[in-house]
This record gives sequence, structure tokens and C-alpha cells, in this order.
Amino acid sequence: MRIVVDLNRCQGYAQCVYLAHEVFRLHGQEALTYEPNPDDERRLQVERAAAACPVQAIMIDRVEGADRGATS
Ligand code: SF4
Repeated sequence: MRIVVDLNRCQGYAQCVYLAHEVFRLHGQEALTYEPNPDDERRLQVERAAAACPVQAIMIDRVEGADRGATS
């Protein structure tokens, strides 16, 4: 599975870290890092984390695959 966290939206509430600590980590007060391709067995945890995020910053399987407009 793939996830993306909108780090501009993330406020470092750490709900996701509590619910899926193998996937999300907080460094310091509000620097969130995460595993963008977690195992599918983590899906439930990640879905719970996404549902719990107060600002809905976690998007699951909604990665825009290709950047259009590659310049050459
Ligand atoms: S729950 Fe949402 S706001 Fe809080 S750290 Fe995770 S992504 Fe950021």
C-alpha cells in the first residue's frame, strides 16, 4: 500500500504515531516522518491512523503516480 502525508497540513498531533508507530514517527515536537510503502498487513493500523488524524493529512492509495508535464 502507499500513503502520503500532507506535511503542510500535519500539525504534529501524533495520533497516527500512537495508532501505527511502525509507520509514523515524530522527531521532536512536530517533524513527522513515515514509511510511504508500508506492508499491506499494516493497512488496518494505517486506516485507523488516517481516520484519527484531526486534520485528515494522511492519504491512502491516492498517490498521483506520474508527474505530468515532465520537461525535456
Ligand atoms: S495524526 Fe495527522 S496531524 Fe497528527 S502527526 Fe499524524 S499526520 Fe500529523
